[in-house]
Amino acid sequence: MKRGLLIIMSGPSGVGKGTIREKLMEDKSLNLFYSVSMTTRNPRPGEVNGREYYFVSKDEFQKNIDNGNLLEWAEFVGNRYGTPKDKVEKMRDEGKNVLLEIDVNGTSQVLSKLDRNDVISVFIAPPSLEELEKRIRGRSTETDEVIKNRLAQASRELSQKDQYRFVVINDKLEDAVEDFKKIITSN
Ligand code: ADP
Ligand code: 5GP
Repeated sequence: MKRGLLIIMSGPSGVGKGTIREKLMEDKSLNLFYSVSMTTRNPRPGEVNGREYYFVSKDEFQKNIDNGNLLEWAEFVGNRYGTPKDKVEKMRDEGKNVLLEIDVNGTSQVLSKLDRNDVISVFIAPPSLEELEKRIRGRSTETDEVIKNRLAQASRELSQKDQYRFVVINDKLEDAVEDFKKIITSN
C-alpha cells in the first residue's frame, strides 16, 4: 500500500483554515485524516472535545511533552498546542493522507524532523490584513485583547510564509478550497 502524505496547513488566526478544512474533509476522494491536536486553551462555544481539539490542563500537556507523545508543539498567544504523534504515522502507514493544522513554529519542527520532500506544506494567506481583522472580529469568539494579540501574531506569521511549499490566498472560499484540492491531488 502507498504511504499517505503528510499535509500541513498554516495561516494566521481567522484566515479561514477551519472553514477550508471542513470543506476538504467533505471530499472523501481526498482520503484525508485530520489530526486532532491537543491544547490548553478553553473550548469555544460549539467545539467538542476530541473533534476540534483534545482540551487538556497545563499539567496534562506537560506530561505529554515529557513522555515524548508529541510530534511537535508550540505556544501560541498564551496557550499550548501540540500534535499527538501516535496516530500520524499509523494513519499514513494505512495509506491515509494526514492533515495537520499547526502554526509556523510547529511547521519548522516538523520540517526539521521529517524529509521535506515527504511533506506538503501550505500557507493560507488573507487577501489583506483589513479583511483578516474583519473575519476574526466577525467570528466573535475572542475578547478584544486576544484579538489584538492574534492580529499582532498574524504579521509575524505572514513574514514566515516562505518556508511553505505552497501559498493559497483565501479570498473567495470556493477558489481557495479548489486550489488546496489541486495541490493534494497533483502530489
Ligand atoms: P481559522 O480557522 O483560520 O482561525 P475560521 O475558519 O474560523 O479561521 O474563519 C474565520 C472567519 O472567517 C469565520 O467566521 C469564517 O466563516 C470566515 N471566512 C472563512 N473563509 C472566508 C472567506 N473566503 N471569505 C469570507 N469569510 C470567510
Ligand atoms: P486556535 O486557538 O485559533 O484554534 O489556534 C491558534 C493557532 O494554533 C493556529 O495558528 C493553529 O493552526 C495553531 N495550532 C493548532 N493546533 C496546533 C498544533 O497541534 N501545533 C501547533 N504548533 N500549532 C497548532
